[in-house]
Amino acid sequence: MKLELEHVNHRYDVDVLHDLSLIVEGYKSIAIIGVSGSGKSTLLRLLSGLEMPTGGSLRVNNHDVTAPEYRKSVGFVFQSHNLFPHLTLLENITIVLEKTRGFSRKDAREQACRFLTMLHLDDQVHKLPRNVSGGQAQRASIARALSVDPEVIFLDEPTSSLDPVLTYEVLSAIKELRELGMEFVLVSHVMSFVHDFADYVVFMDDGNIGEHGPPTILENPQSQALIDFMAKVP
Ligand code: ADP
Ligand code: MG
Repeated sequence: MKLELEHVNHRYDVDVLHDLSLIVEGYKSIAIIGVSGSGKSTLLRLLSGLEMPTGGSLRVNNHDVTAPEYRKSVGFVFQSHNLFPHLTLLENITIVLEKTRGFSRKDAREQACRFLTMLHLDDQVHKLPRNVSGGQAQRASIARALSVDPEVIFLDEPTSSLDPVLTYEVLSAIKELRELGMEFVLVSHVMSFVHDFADYVVFMDDGNIGEHGPPTILENPQSQALIDFMAKVP
């Protein structure tokens, strides 16, 4: 995938991203790391077209992220699963395919089942989100993000609400998807996972890109900020 950031600024009540410029090309799984409040989620929302930057431009695989059709070409997985509580795992996916992608009921079911199976949820498809584990619900939301055949999948700390066993389960599923050739940009605090999943790492430091490079930058941090960060995370 190719990411191009040119003088990206973002402001809420104060500036939270400061003049980010970066070109990254040829990687399949990019991890964004950094302390809480450093701007990871904001950057991910801008890259995925969920939010428009206050200034500058972002392109993903040569698409301008502010183009209305761009949003339809990506998938997004949030910190907690945000499935519709009154719909089964299967219906959570078919409703999206039918309402936003024009799938027939039959095709939507087929497609939804394919992705639920890929995430090892074949025996859970008729359950409501509250009747499955947090890890299963999060895997269903990954299946939902995948079901629209996105070019890139964005995940914002997909395991932050899960215990270690469920975290392992979800991260293993994401690794399998990488083996299938899918492309990811992911925010994660699980450094062991970042280390062996990501082929490129962007370290956010107080609204700036502190360091970026292959995962080996984690073993040999150059800036005090990344040295401090690596000393704090397990
Ligand atoms: P991270 O994901 O690294 O924890 P965020 O991107 O969520 O960081 O936040 C960066 C900064 O922007 C923080 O100071 C946060 O309080 C602020 N921020 C994030 N979202 C909003 C918002 N919707 N409105 C106002 N401030 C926000
Ligand atoms: Mg965040």
